[in-house]
Amino acid sequence: MSLVIDEDKCARCGVCEPECPNEAIFQTEDAYVIDPELCSECVRFGDPKCVAVCPSDGVHKAKESLLKTCMGLFG
Ligand code: SF4
Ligand code: SF4
Repeated sequence: MSLVIDEDKCARCGVCEPECPNEAIFQTEDAYVIDPELCSECVRFGDPKCVAVCPSDGVHKAKESLLKTCMGLFG
């Protein structure tokens, strides 16, 4: 399981990128994204570092994001 960045909430500040111990966060042309193959959810640290530093509540567990997407589609 990986965390994901919510495009709607992400302020594109870039603070999370250098904090990731796995270099899983990178910037695309118009967004910040998390590579699910590299994200370990920071299990060895206890809490996800990207969530801790994000000023805009932009990072979520994948299933939460999926739920929000579904709610948007069907709500
Ligand atoms: S949870 Fe940890 S490993 Fe995953 S993207 Fe965030 S900082 Fe990187
Ligand atoms: S710290 Fe939060 S707001 Fe900043 S780029 Fe990362 S996800 Fe987006």
